[in-house]
Amino acid sequence: MTRSAPDSCPGVLRLHEAADGPLARIRVPGGRLESGQVQVLAEAAHDLGNGSLELTSRGNVQLRRIRDANELAARLATAGLLPSRTHERVRNIVASPLSGRVGGFADVHGLATDLDVGLQADAALADLPGRVLFTLDDGRGDVSTLRGDIGIQAVGDEFALLLAGTDTGIRVTPDEAVTVMLDAARGFLDLRAESGQWRLHEIPGGVEKVTETLDRSPAGARLELGATHDIPIGWLEQDNGLIALGAGVPLGTLPARVAEFLAAVEHPVFLTPWRSVVLPDLEEGTAETVVRVLAPMGLIFDAGSPWLQVSACAGRPGCAKSHTDVRTDLTEAIETGRVLGDEPPDPTEGRPATVEPGRDAERTLPADAADRAESGLDAADVVATGRQHWSGCERRCGRPTGPVTDVVATEGGYRINRPD
Ligand code: SF4
Repeated sequence: MTRSAPDSCPGVLRLHEAADGPLARIRVPGGRLESGQVQVLAEAAHDLGNGSLELTSRGNVQLRRIRDANELAARLATAGLLPSRTHERVRNIVASPLSGRVGGFADVHGLATDLDVGLQADAALADLPGRVLFTLDDGRGDVSTLRGDIGIQAVGDEFALLLAGTDTGIRVTPDEAVTVMLDAARGFLDLRAESGQWRLHEIPGGVEKVTETLDRSPAGARLELGATHDIPIGWLEQDNGLIALGAGVPLGTLPARVAEFLAAVEHPVFLTPWRSVVLPDLEEGTAETVVRVLAPMGLIFDAGSPWLQVSACAGRPGCAKSHTDVRTDLTEAIETGRVLGDEPPDPTEGRPATVEPGRDAERTLPADAADRAESGLDAADVVATGRQHWSGCERRCGRPTGPVTDVVATEGGYRINRPD
């Protein structure tokens, strides 16, 4: 399919007219925010938006129902969150959040900064589609699972060049990595001038054609990239003895008040592409205080939480295409124990639900809940296991990569599609 229209990805200077009001997307290359920037975003969400920060699947931030776009742009520019008016929408750079602190072969955060600077320095690259994604993986294989358009993954002392989510076999040194990624971006730009596609994988033979422009020969065995990777959650001991805290954010919605508490820790905050955050470089006592304060405010520090296996599109009221308010339905499903772990329930007995205080403590799920009819379901009858994405319509926006159960709202009720 040839794309004749320009991509419609929103930014700060070009808002998306969502059903619930104007939406701004703020790029956060490498996911790194300084504590002052977190505070600015929290105040902007409170003063100019709907009171929450939305974390996206590319480690960016969205603010909804923006009342004053000029004021927002001015605040973000002052905070260093809008360094370029021409390139703002192409700064989609995801880096391994724990890089340089816990495991991995390399620290890729510096390369993320260099790549961002290099992108902004090339006027032509402002024409990249806003959908293009750069991934910088420190070798643990986490962000490579996102199947970005252009990426690197550390392999020992060098990096594998990834295009359209596959290893090209090309190996580059750390000093060459940013230059080669920028060259690949230019190669893709030239190709899309003919094809009009928004993503490299959409162009037949695109990977081979971009590879040819780089004039480098493949060397070494190709990496097999994984489909999924664990989200960094909870208490993570850094290689230098400090603590990194990984915290899930239910459905990626971070209330401004909670963001202000994150800012008050006065450490950098890394946004992850799994709609969670990492607070690195904490002394043990500080980390204990953070957990004690922020867990009751809704952040998830328990890797077993069902919130970590679910995601949802905007749904109603943010999207006019949605058949229902999927986020409310999904929240209800979690609170009543209908979002299950990877294993289906024992079919021989009814399974008591996990019940929140104040809810119906007698509720019991039917024995065949996970196996029964999977379409035309009322929201209260949806029971799904494992990683799952709830969508308000068939477009399934924001669906994660890898094996995921789809819970899709249709005109006739919910439909469940389990992964093959
Ligand atoms: S999946 Fe459908 S309902 Fe959900 S945000 Fe996308 S278009 Fe809207």
